[in-house]
Order: sequence, then C-alpha cells, then structure tokens
Amino acid sequence: MTKKFIFVTGGVVSSLGKGITTASIGILLKSKGIKVNVLKMDPYLNVDPGTMSPYQHGEVFVTEDGAEADLDLGYYERFLDINMYKKNNVTTGQIYETILMRERRGDYLGKTIQVIPHVTNEIKARISKVSEDSDITIVELGGTVGDIEGLPFLEAIRQFKIDKGRDNVLYIHLTLIPYIQTAEELKTKPTQQSVGKLREIGIEPDIIIARTEKPLTNEIKSKISLFCNVKKEAVIEEIDVGAGNIYAIPLILREQGLDKIILRCLKIFSKKQDMHNWKKLVESKKSFKKKVEIAIAGKYTGLKDAYKSICSALVHAGFANKVNVKIKYVDAESNSLGDDLKDVGGVILPGGFGERGIEGKIDVAKYARENNIPFLGICLGMQCAVIEFARNVCGMKNANSTEFNPETPYPVIDLLPLQRKIKTKGGTMRLGSYPCVLSEGTTAYNSYKSKKISERHRHRYEFNNKYKKKLVSKGLLIAGQYNGLVEVVELKEHPWFVATQYHPEFKSRPLNPHPLFKGLVKEAIEYTNGRK
Ligand code: GLN
Repeated sequence: MTKKFIFVTGGVVSSLGKGITTASIGILLKSKGIKVNVLKMDPYLNVDPGTMSPYQHGEVFVTEDGAEADLDLGYYERFLDINMYKKNNVTTGQIYETILMRERRGDYLGKTIQVIPHVTNEIKARISKVSEDSDITIVELGGTVGDIEGLPFLEAIRQFKIDKGRDNVLYIHLTLIPYIQTAEELKTKPTQQSVGKLREIGIEPDIIIARTEKPLTNEIKSKISLFCNVKKEAVIEEIDVGAGNIYAIPLILREQGLDKIILRCLKIFSKKQDMHNWKKLVESKKSFKKKVEIAIAGKYTGLKDAYKSICSALVHAGFANKVNVKIKYVDAESNSLGDDLKDVGGVILPGGFGERGIEGKIDVAKYARENNIPFLGICLGMQCAVIEFARNVCGMKNANSTEFNPETPYPVIDLLPLQRKIKTKGGTMRLGSYPCVLSEGTTAYNSYKSKKISERHRHRYEFNNKYKKKLVSKGLLIAGQYNGLVEVVELKEHPWFVATQYHPEFKSRPLNPHPLFKGLVKEAIEYTNGRK
C-alpha cells in the first residue's frame, strides 16, 4: 500500500485534547486492519521535555528505548496498544541540534543554511522515518496554529502534499466552538479565523473536528462547512465527555463516520472492523456501582497533567475491578496529612525530583506503613519509603538520599559511581526499559504472576546496597532486583506495601491493566470495606 499521512493541527486555543483525538483517529484506523504509527512534533526549542518542570509541561512520558517524551505518546500507547520510541517525538531543539551538528562537520560547506529547505527537509525526514513500518502515519503538531515556533512545521507539512500526492495526505484541524452563555449561542468565528491562518500558509483542512460543550446544530455545521470550505459530513463534533470517559471518544467519532471519511479521502478500501472489546470496555463502566478512593500524594498536585499515566493506570485498574476510582490529590507539603489520608482506600507516592516536599512524602510513607493502608511507591516514592523505614524502624537518624542531603550519616539512597561522573542533565538518567527478577511469594510476584518482568525507568539515584542487610533484618523485603540493583521493596509486616524503583504506570493499557495498579485497587476495595 502507498504510504499515507494524516496531519492533525490545533486551532483557537491549546488544551483541546489533540493528543486524545489523534490517538482516537489511530485506534479507528487500526481497527480497520491498517498499520498505523504516530509522530508528535513539538515546536519548542528544548531537545526533549526531560528537563522541564511538570508545571510547564505535564508528565514526562518514558518510552521503552528511554526517550523522555511528550505525554501525548502515553495516549498513543494506551489507545493504540503499540509501543512508542524515540523517533515518535520530535522537537525544534532536535531538528536544530541535528542541523548544527552537520554544519560543524562541514556537510553544508559553501551553503547558507535556511529554514526552507534545510529545517523543513529535516522535519520531513523525521516524518518519513516514522512512516517506515506503517501504512498510515498520523502526525500531531503541538501548539496552536498561529504560534511562531510552529511555522516551519506547517510549511513542511504543506510541502508533504506536493511531495506525496493529494490522495496520500490528509489534514485534520481540531478547533474550539465556544458557547457564549449570555447569547446562548455557539460561535464559529474563531474556527473560521484559525482555518484562515492555515490557508495563508497553503494548507486547506479536509476535516474539521470541533470541540464543543453543546451539540452542534445543523445550522452551525453548515456554517463551518461553508466558511471553512469542507464538506458538511466532514465537520465532526467532539463533545466534552469528562476526564473519566475519554475512552468513549473513538466511538463518538466513529458514530459520525470519521473513519469512513478518512479512508474515502485517502482512497483506502478496507472493511475489517474490530472495536468489540473496546466498546465492551467503555460500556462496562456504566454498570459500575462502587467507588474507591486512592490518594496521590505529590508536590505537583496543582496540575493534573503531571500524573497523567498514573491516573490512567488507576482508571484501567478500575475497569479490571469493576469500580470507579476516585483520585484524591494530596499535597505532600500540607500539614494535615493524617486528615487527608484517613478516609482513602490506598495511597500512591509518585515520582519526583528535588528537595521540596520530601519530608512530607516521608511522612506519607510512615502513615501508610503504620496504618496498614495499601501503598504503592513509585521511583522517588520508593526512595522515600526506604528512607522512612531506615529512620523510623531501623533507628538510622537523619537517613536520607544524597539527592537531598549529601552529608547524611546514612545515605540509604545514593548515586552509583557511573552516575557520579555525569555532569550534564539532559537525557543522562537511568532511562527506559530494564529487566527485573521478582522473588517468589512477594506481593509483586503474586501480582505479576511472573518471575521475569521488564519495566521503564527514569531516575539517577538507587537503593544503597550497603544498608541492605540491616534494612532486611528489620523487615524490609527485597522483592525484585536487576543485576544487584534493588528494584522493588515491600514490608514484611504490611498487607499490601509495594514500592518500585521503576515506573509501572507507563505500561498500563485500558485492555491490559498493570498488575500492580490492579492489585492496589483490589486491596483498596477490601481495605475500604473492612473499615466500614
Ligand atoms: N529524584 C529521584 C532520582 O533521580 C527519583 C526520580 C523519579 O522519581 N523519577 O533518582
């Protein structure tokens, strides 16, 4: 099959859920038996989001091959049930890094390097690379049409239609149709203007997907069709569904024939359709009667996007246990932790960096240990659980990680010699997938039902083996290891306390929930019932 390309741009405002929409288009096409791959292009100048604060960028998603990537890759993995890699996320920073390296090497001797054609050619090369092993490549452009940083990307995708032929390239524009309360009207003007901006560049969208809080009337659809020069059937409504129902979006888009329109435009003939399991999953939620509350005790609780994959993994675990999981964000720096945690069914202590909030996180681990609350510590969460155990059970006063106190008398979490030598920050942590061997009889082993697992990492510091013996003698269980490195710890005296150096949340999928999250939610239901 000739390779085909779909470009998804965003108009009017950011945060329209372009990632979810792109992922939804992906699953619709995949269900038709088509091989799909996805590329996220981020116009910012950072090489990757790895060095940005979660407050700037939301969660940093980690791929199997250790890319620190945009969180939209998480949606692609979860919706499409395929793995993303380094090549699936490109930034302006990466494009310029490559070009400037070539310039220094002398590859362009005699020439002036310009945005067109050098930058645009490199963008096109990245798109082509992702398309190597797929029939349709969906490319999502980050940001909003009109952003200065986005211009070279728009120019590159404009050229794509000429390069590849009109039947092989499709443009989808996701936009907002605001509802003006006082006029009781939906407004199409911002969409018209944003499509106008695209036209100035030479891109004519084939499909408009309209985010809206109210259903689009026939009249509104006709207006969008007329002013934006798309067929009326190609004006697709994407109504607000609420954070807990995002998996319904592909079905909502399919009901309006989005998949058929795409295939028609791209001249693809395909009949196979298999969304049975997905539909069943989405529908099953309607019958959930029970609710269980899980706390996420972190320091980025002001921005929900900071814990996107953890929240998703909890939703998946809810599907598996047939309950609605309610997430309670608890600020690790609050001084009412006891009150905040007293009614929840389970606690997650997530990953993080830097000293702020550490003592609060250690208190959370202590509270969960002493009160037998089901507990899942992730990365920094695991390190805090170890510090807490060392301090309060093993009597190692002022035990700490050298990340927070280089002078601590008990560095129970420390850098390995290899990491100590590294001075630069970008892309230098232990990143990506590593194997781990679990010990039989542990909670982790019983959850995974397997001895050999593989999980994704993003951290610099490690459990310090110098203290292993002492901690184990007091009741810490080493449940999983990789090459002598401690990957999972548990507490002998606790019904469900699992803390992992890796990030299990990145591998959870709606139809294949992660065993640890599944286990945590199951235990939280029992814990909540027991308390009643
Ligand atoms: N800051 C810790 C480290 O670098 C934990 C990182 C994390 O939680 N992802 O090891």
